[in-house]
Amino acid sequence: MFPWEEPSKRNNRRKSFRPRCKECRTNKFVVPIVYGFKVSEELLEKEKLGEIKIGGISRSVDAPNWQCKNCGKEFLR
Ligand SMILES: [Zn+2]
Repeated sequence: MFPWEEPSKRNNRRKSFRPRCKECRTNKFVVPIVYGFKVSEELLEKEKLGEIKIGGISRSVDAPNWQCKNCGKEFLR
């Protein structure tokens, strides 16, 4: 389970929510960074399409979970 998926917030989690990039002032280019999953065909395809970024297997507590594809900035939210 991920920190942003606490049981209390699970039910009303908005799937389309994306934080805004502070640099670009838009969330248009912001994609979630996916950690700890087995890299499946589906994930690779999504990364290819620019919908997500695969961050690797291990995830430290303060690892960024969003990346702006416009300016390349990674941030935690
Ligand atoms: Zn940006």
